[in-house]
Amino acid sequence: MAGIVVVFDFDKTIIDCDSDNWVVDALGATDLFNQLLPTMPWNHLMDRMMKELHSQGKTIEDIAESLKTAPLHPRVISAIKSAYAIGCDLRIVSDANIFFIETILKHHGLVDYFSEINTNPSLIDEEGKLRILPFHDFTTSSHGCGTHVCPPNMCKGQIIERIFASMDAKKRFIYLGDGNGDYCPSLKLREGDFVMPRKNLQLWDLINGDPSLLKAEVHGWNYGEDQERVLLQLVNRIILEESSSTVQLLSTDCKLQTVPISTHEPLLPQALRVTH
Ligand SMILES: [Mg+2]
Ligand SMILES: [Zn+2]
Repeated sequence: MAGIVVVFDFDKTIIDCDSDNWVVDALGATDLFNQLLPTMPWNHLMDRMMKELHSQGKTIEDIAESLKTAPLHPRVISAIKSAYAIGCDLRIVSDANIFFIETILKHHGLVDYFSEINTNPSLIDEEGKLRILPFHDFTTSSHGCGTHVCPPNMCKGQIIERIFASMDAKKRFIYLGDGNGDYCPSLKLREGDFVMPRKNLQLWDLINGDPSLLKAEVHGWNYGEDQERVLLQLVNRIILEESSSTVQLLSTDCKLQTVPISTHEPLLPQALRVTH
């Protein structure tokens, strides 16, 4: 049963914080971050913050240690493991970066549950400094998305469309997210798909601004147990819908086959009477 694709945002969806803010705060650079925030795009700012932290003597290991303390609810871990065990194809689409996400997932033993992580690339340069690069290099061209809520370095809607194009159109999608950047992929979901916005955050507000713009069914959640409950209910519902449509097909075939047999039914009692 691998007809279901579950796409997770990462920050405030898998972990219960924003990993960028978590690292900046843990390593004591919050004031500088807030000071620079109005002057450059977020993705460039994070690269700049890594440069600043490096110049203050903070190492890759310091960054990794802070990431390992980011909150991740045990029921979110069990939701991921259960969905995987049922056969769902799990993917991440995130505006964090690959170093942050892999460090956290590996720490919790979760990295192998995901078939794909779409996020901003990162690398460690020759000085041992973490560099964070844009998923889409907006210094050369715009990604061209017109929804106005996608940051310049990433349109998650375009990522979702690429995933749609790479697989069987019958696959059903469940998308979980919380932020502005999760709105564009929510608009791309099709009938039969589901979007799970975290309640009372940006995605939830954007969807509730005009729910008629979405083709997917909307199911809100709160972090932790509630996320697990809603996700597994939807997975089970899709499985039931898919299996009942298979049974319907089978029973239609059976009816067609029983038509000629039923015409002979009245003969059977007579034949039995003869032998008595
Ligand atoms: Mg998020
Ligand atoms: Zn977009």
